[in-house]
Amino acid sequence: MSFTASVITAKDWGAKPPKQWSEITRPQYIIIHHTATPNPPNDASKGTLTGAKEFAKSVQKAHMDGFGWVDSGHNFLNTTTGFLLEGRQGSLAAIVQGRSVRSAHAGNTKGNESPGIENEGTFTTYQMKVLQWNSLVELCASICSSCKISPDNIRGHRDFSPTQCPGDWLYSQLPRLRNEVRQRIDASVEDYLREGSTGTKVKELQQLLKAKGFNPGPIDGIFGSGTVQAVVSFQKFNGLKADGVVGPATWQALSVVPVLPESPPATLSLIDTYKYYRGLPHQDQAIAWLQGQVSKQVLEEFSQKWRDTPSQPFLPLQLGAVSPEVKQLQQRLQQQGLNPGVADGIFGAGTQAAVIAFQKAKGISADGIVGEKTWTTLNLS
Ligand SMILES: [Zn+2]
Repeated sequence: MSFTASVITAKDWGAKPPKQWSEITRPQYIIIHHTATPNPPNDASKGTLTGAKEFAKSVQKAHMDGFGWVDSGHNFLNTTTGFLLEGRQGSLAAIVQGRSVRSAHAGNTKGNESPGIENEGTFTTYQMKVLQWNSLVELCASICSSCKISPDNIRGHRDFSPTQCPGDWLYSQLPRLRNEVRQRIDASVEDYLREGSTGTKVKELQQLLKAKGFNPGPIDGIFGSGTVQAVVSFQKFNGLKADGVVGPATWQALSVVPVLPESPPATLSLIDTYKYYRGLPHQDQAIAWLQGQVSKQVLEEFSQKWRDTPSQPFLPLQLGAVSPEVKQLQQRLQQQGLNPGVADGIFGAGTQAAVIAFQKAKGISADGIVGEKTWTTLNLS
C-alpha cells in the first residue's frame, strides 16, 4: 500500500514557520504518545476540524515558546475524533519519501530520528474511541509502508525514556496496533531490512556484502551503522536507490553470482594452462615450472618449428656474412668455449670452423652454415 492516511499539513492548519528546518533522518520506529490532556467531553480539540487545528497551534506554541524548541516536538497529532495533523514541519514530505525529520518527542536522540505520533487524551485507563484508533492504525500503516518499517517497530514513548507516556492502557494496546497495521500493509514490508533490524537475515546480508567487497563490520546479525554504510555503498555502486534499506532490488543485486574463471580441469592440457594462468600474478612461475618438465630436445623441436622460423630473417649465416648477428653468433660460440676468432661480425674461416665444431658436438648436420636449428641450439645452450 502507499501512504493513504489523510494528514492536514502544518501549512494547512496555520503553523508558524519553524525557527529552523530539521535534518532528514532514516526512521526505524514509530513512537506512540499521548498528549496527557483531558479526554472527551473536555478534550481540547472538541472533536471538530477547527478545534483540531487550534489544538495543533497551541501545542506548537507550547513547544516553541514554552520549551524553546525550533518547532512542534512531535511529527504527527491524532485528535480525539481522528483528525491527523502534521507536527514538525517537513515530516509529511519526508515520510512519503521513506524518511523522517529529526524531532523532539522521544527524549532520546535515537528516538527523535523516528516519527512520533501524539494521540490526544490521557490513556492511563481511558480507552481510545474507534475514530481515533482507526486513524492511528491508518497513519501507522502508511508510515510502515512508505518507510519500510516493520510493525514490530511500533513502540511506546516509555520504551525510549522514563515516562508513563503513552499511558498504561494505550501501551497495553500496542500488540493489537501492530497486528492491525500488519493486516493493512503489504506482507513484503516485513522482508525489508534496515538499521536496527536483527537476526539471521541480517547476518546473511552482512555475509553477502562482505563477499561483494563491501565491509559491513562484524558479521553479528545486527544492522548497525557499519552495515548501513556498506548497504548504501553497495546500492550506489549498483545504481540502486541508496537509502540503506534492503528490499527486493537490493537483495537481487546481492544475490547475483559473479562469473569466476573456470577451475582448471584435473588433467591439464598446455593450452588450458596458458588460458587459465594468462594474466594471473603467478603466470610466469607456472609456465616456467611447466617448461622445466619438458625435455630439452622437445623444446628445441618446438623452437625450431614454431618460434624461430618467421622471426629470424637474417638466417642462414654462412661464410662471407657480415652483420651484427654474426657478432652475436661469435660471442655465443665463445661462451660455448669455442674459438671463432675475434668477435668482429665477419663470418670468416675461423667462425666457420667453430660453427662446424659446435654442430658436431650437438649432433647437428656439420655444414658450417648457421640455419634455424644451429642458431636455436646455440641460443638455448
Ligand atoms: Zn510521549
